[in-house]
Amino acid sequence: MQSVGVIGAGQMGAGIAQVSAAAGYRVILSDVDQARAGAGKAGIAKRLARDVEKGKIDADARDSLLGRIEAVGDVAAMADCALVIEAATEREAIKRQIFERVGKVLGSDAVLASNTSSIPITRLAQAAPDASRFIGVHFFNPVPVMGLIEIIRGLATSDETVATIETYAQQLGKQVVRANDAPGFIVNRVLMPMLNEACFALGEGVATIPDIDLACQLGLNHPMGPLTLADFIGLDTCLEITRVLFEGTGDPKFRPAPLLIKYVEAGWYGRKSGRGFYDYSGDTPVPTR
Ligand code: NAD
Repeated sequence: MQSVGVIGAGQMGAGIAQVSAAAGYRVILSDVDQARAGAGKAGIAKRLARDVEKGKIDADARDSLLGRIEAVGDVAAMADCALVIEAATEREAIKRQIFERVGKVLGSDAVLASNTSSIPITRLAQAAPDASRFIGVHFFNPVPVMGLIEIIRGLATSDETVATIETYAQQLGKQVVRANDAPGFIVNRVLMPMLNEACFALGEGVATIPDIDLACQLGLNHPMGPLTLADFIGLDTCLEITRVLFEGTGDPKFRPAPLLIKYVEAGWYGRKSGRGFYDYSGDTPVPTR
């Protein structure tokens, strides 16, 4: 059984660990320390417990899936991994530091992939041990539910590296699209301006939070409104992606909405922090404005 390393045990990293283990891989899951990695694994166990209750998976399969995930405090444990996926906070400096650290332990054939939502792969590859074995693998949230992976090759990414990721995606049962290394790739290039515009509309008093969400949900036939979706993605992540689009293209149409910046500065990151455009402390989300 091949081993996959996952760095960052937040919403995305935990999801990637779960689907990799479900596909039969042994997974080494790390975060800044053992406790955070363990919390990521505990979150997976909680979600799987619900799936067992709903009859989606039986208890034995759940136990063996969890048995394939090892939560660790450091990337040193990833020396035997054929593939390592970085899914840490969307900040270039953090990712660069991680690549330098993991580069010291990775095998000479191992592929290093980043789940970045928007940072250029060719630029990130400069901090990787070998740019030809570096690639973007962009999952969607929630990972166990969403069927898509965007694959982004940097200028130096080799065909073998692309093939490794395509085989991995196939084993996970995900559909693949290939995007060039341009800011935001495909989905976020199209999505983030809409979420950012919803923040402008709210900040300018065009409508209330529930009305903006309901208008887009029913008027555009989307499964949820843009402010609900932004809360779900994480407002910090939305802001980082929007900044990358703005800086990467130089186009003012991507400038972040002041209200989005304000929410992030307040620590209101959305669902994951308990408050964003909605308050998540009760049973049902309550609009905050
Ligand atoms: P998150 O905030 O839920 O999790 C980030 C995790 O990274 C945290 O657990 C944090 O402790 C950890 N981390 C920070 N510094 C680290 C370090 N030096 N070493 C190891 N771990 C570290 O964020 P997320 O939503 O899981 O996003 C993670 C990545 O996935 C980002 O690059 C983001 O852009 C990308 N992404 C997010 C979404 C989404 O919808 N949220 C979708 C696709 C891709």
